Amino acid sequence: MTLRIDLHTHSNASDGTTPPADLVVEARAAGLDVVALTDHDTTAGWDAAANALPAGLRLVRGAEISCVAEGISLHLLAYLFDPTYAPLADRLTALRDSRRARAQQMVALLAADGHPVDADLLPAEGTLGRPHVANVLIAAGLVTTIKQAFTPEWIGSHGQYWVPKVDFPVLEAIALVRAAGGVPVFAHPAATVRGKTVSDDTIRAMASAGLAGLEVDHVDHTDEARAHLRELASELDLLTTGSSDFHGTNKDIALGTNLTAEAALEQIATQATGVEVL
Ligand code: AMP
Ligand code: FE
Ligand code: FE
Ligand code: ZN
Repeated sequence: MTLRIDLHTHSNASDGTTPPADLVVEARAAGLDVVALTDHDTTAGWDAAANALPAGLRLVRGAEISCVAEGISLHLLAYLFDPTYAPLADRLTALRDSRRARAQQMVALLAADGHPVDADLLPAEGTLGRPHVANVLIAAGLVTTIKQAFTPEWIGSHGQYWVPKVDFPVLEAIALVRAAGGVPVFAHPAATVRGKTVSDDTIRAMASAGLAGLEVDHVDHTDEARAHLRELASELDLLTTGSSDFHGTNKDIALGTNLTAEAALEQIATQATGVEVL
């Protein structure tokens, strides 16, 4: 029997909508055998997910770290790292603090232009992201879907009310994830729908710095992009993964939409020395 493995999901500890304890139950109900919880810049959901783990489901604890290279923002999935390793934990805290200030700034820019936005609608806890700001836009009647907020006139990358994140150089992030016993995988490297993506040379530099793999099967990747990433992974001896990048009702994508091969998960588990797969 082939295991169904989804290595990238978000709970309401970041910009998903499902509490971590419900996410693992939904993952099992969706027929998954292994799920990774990878909230943006936080491990806050780990314990709730672990404590609610249903029979038959294994949990890979991880995070999706906000990084930068070539002046472009990119996401690094980090699996099974020690969450108490201070040099990394401190960076994640700084990223969450800057994300909160930035979300408030985007809402303030909207208000300054006379838009009837309510900053109190931003969640009081968790990692804030643009989907939360998008929900503020919806509540103000400025857009009707989250997707419509990700446009140049609102908070799309480099859009009118977009504010950049304080970023974390990706080569430094890769080294810190490894130092924390974790396994770094480049999330959706070719998601051009979100803006500019980094060059293959940057991916080569990431591989030299300790990158373990590339997330190839992702809803934002074309077939051509997947083929190219698979070629690059084989050239650089990187593993490949697939995932849904589930965000609950903040995105139109179901758990288990793209999957990871068992051999890739085994390599990730073997390389990790931070925490175990539960
Ligand atoms: P941030 O990390 O705060 O800049 O926000 C980026 C997040 O917004 C991503 O992790 C996705 O969850 C979400 N996102 C990006 N593009 C879109 C889109 N076109 N529609 C809906 N959600 C999006
Ligand atoms: Fe997200
Ligand atoms: Fe991402
Ligand atoms: Zn994600």
